[in-house]
Amino acid sequence: MKVLVINCGSSSLKFQLIDMQTEKTIVSGMCDRIGLEGSVLNYKKNGEKIEKKEAIPNHQKAVSMVLEALTDKKHGAISSLQEIVAVGHRVVHGGEYFKESVLVDENVIKHVEDCSALAPLHNPANITGIRACQKLMPDTPMVAVFDTAFHQTMPAKAFMYGVPHEWYEKHKVRRYGFHGTSHKFVSQRTAEFLGLDYHNSKIITCHLGNGSSIAAIKNGKCIDTSMGLTPLEGLIMGTRSGDLDPAILDYIADREGLNTKAIVNILNKKSGVLGISGLSSDFRDLLDADLKGDDRAKLARAAFAYRVVKYIGSYCAVLIGVDAISFCAGVGENANFIRGMIVDHLEFLGVKLDTEANKVCGKEAIISTSDSKVKVCVIPTNEELVIARDTQAIVSQL
Ligand code: ADP
Repeated sequence: MKVLVINCGSSSLKFQLIDMQTEKTIVSGMCDRIGLEGSVLNYKKNGEKIEKKEAIPNHQKAVSMVLEALTDKKHGAISSLQEIVAVGHRVVHGGEYFKESVLVDENVIKHVEDCSALAPLHNPANITGIRACQKLMPDTPMVAVFDTAFHQTMPAKAFMYGVPHEWYEKHKVRRYGFHGTSHKFVSQRTAEFLGLDYHNSKIITCHLGNGSSIAAIKNGKCIDTSMGLTPLEGLIMGTRSGDLDPAILDYIADREGLNTKAIVNILNKKSGVLGISGLSSDFRDLLDADLKGDDRAKLARAAFAYRVVKYIGSYCAVLIGVDAISFCAGVGENANFIRGMIVDHLEFLGVKLDTEANKVCGKEAIISTSDSKVKVCVIPTNEELVIARDTQAIVSQL
């Protein structure tokens, strides 16, 4: 049984073909620069890298190129599209409509459209991807898997902002959270890896990548997470500011002669560790610069780690204790120095870092000592696998 996973952005389409018996990726790739000059399809099969430079004017063309690549006689992986039992689509915002993954029908698409105002860059692209697949594979079931769904178990006291209630009623202003498929996968895997009962556990998952978020998961249910109405809230990220005083908008609007749209754009794209360092959003560049004595690169890394520590501390309070803390995504899986900066701050919880084990890069590992009261792990995330598993579970009931 093979499931195709599609993740459509505004000018890109990432895909993976996953064999559900082995849960291994057979082919993975990406169409980049859709609708722009220099569009390209790249994919990888059995370690072999294939590149196809061709005009990709829209997502439909991208999907048709992906399907052709998958069935290509020489470089393909399947003999016919019939081998794909279902397509799982990543959808960024499911609002309050979707608490779990669903089989796509017209009503689902309408609700995803309704949430487009909350994710204007992502939801329309996700719908375009679904429509393109429906056209080319009309008999194959499509499943939508939402970044927000796992966080729908948050209680109202955690998701409500301290703003007039009409904003929630009229405009759906509340905290939703993102990276839900990652937090779900990593928390489940953490419990499995450590031999904990997932439904009787307290886990904090730290998804630290270019976009970063933290979640507090009690007995397998998310009770709080750091991102909000949009992914801008919470941690200091690669280019996003994370939490700030909202009065800054008005203050900077007056001083820099900018409107709020322009300021929010800066808060999304030119802030975070990039903004603080003035150098890069990439933690590898920041480490190099820090080692060469760049003070702002050092500050950016310190501010990033400090914010993570603050969230972990507050989530320990919210969870009334913690059994395990897990790190995932580009920074969480690879940047052992940053992990060290964070975990060293948590001694008050009885956390003890195993500095040797913490050298691990991109592999599952326990990085706390055997006598540490709280276990700390690195758990590589696999959002595509969650999408494929949910897709398989839904279509197997049809
Ligand atoms: P996203 O999916 O949010 O785009 P990723 O989870 O792929 O991001 O994380 C990308 C980030 O991970 C990079 O910007 C970089 O800062 C960081 N990263 C990746 N590899 C390393 C490494 N070996 N050391 C430090 N940071 C790394």
